[in-house]
Amino acid sequence: MMGPSHALSGAAVWLTGSWALDQFADYHQTPLALAVGTAVCAGGALFPDLDLSGKVTRNQGGATVARTFGVFSLFIAEVMEKISLGVYYATKLSRDPRRNNGHRTLTHTIPFTLLVGWGTTALCAAYGKWAVVSILFFMIGLALRGLFDEWAERAGWVVVTLLSAAAAWFTFANLPGDRGYPLIGTAVGVGCFVHILGDMITKAGVPILWPIPIKRRMWTMIGLPNGIALRTGSKAETIVLRAALTVLAVLAAVGLVAPSVLQRFNIEV
Ligand SMILES: [Zn+2]
Repeated sequence: MMGPSHALSGAAVWLTGSWALDQFADYHQTPLALAVGTAVCAGGALFPDLDLSGKVTRNQGGATVARTFGVFSLFIAEVMEKISLGVYYATKLSRDPRRNNGHRTLTHTIPFTLLVGWGTTALCAAYGKWAVVSILFFMIGLALRGLFDEWAERAGWVVVTLLSAAAAWFTFANLPGDRGYPLIGTAVGVGCFVHILGDMITKAGVPILWPIPIKRRMWTMIGLPNGIALRTGSKAETIVLRAALTVLAVLAAVGLVAPSVLQRFNIEV
């Protein structure tokens, strides 16, 4: 799946989940908390592809998401790719093939998802608002790059960076302090998980069972069979899937916000 589809699926899942919690579990969020969660989940849904490195020294290559903050994020991607490849070789069994690139390995596993979710929660608990503003800055940048890819391409990474900084600062100024913000860690973790599911419906698949060894393989790639798998960049993805995700996200957002808007104008339903 391509970047915009990943980001969109993160946003749609977060909004739909929030709507379900609001309806059935009586768990309500303020509009700001909803916006923050949605942006962070959309960004988190791109995070695993920050393992597609390019050539930092020549400022070339890398996934779209690796270009969010120019060479800085390209460098992070390079480091993440090398770490992933290292973990691949450290845990590989005899039937796992040799690889020279770490893409779609460590960052596309459940333990990584849990680690990122827990790590984010721990950072927010330890450093409070300062951790929140840094994480927001990073995730909003990824979300902007993913959701509005054509605009971001034209605007360039400096504009994306400045906008994310402004959005992070605004949120920082408006979120109440003295809390741990467990929602942010949850949103990042859910986003990573949604990304893995998105890659699973393509034929390359993801090592979702890692680290469970199967037939002397630790990195079994699980994905849909060729016949029904989604082709990356196909019309089924760029038109049908994205339209469905957009409709879902909009419906959930309307369902979440409409009741309080109606209430404000004293309209009973
Ligand atoms: Zn991926």
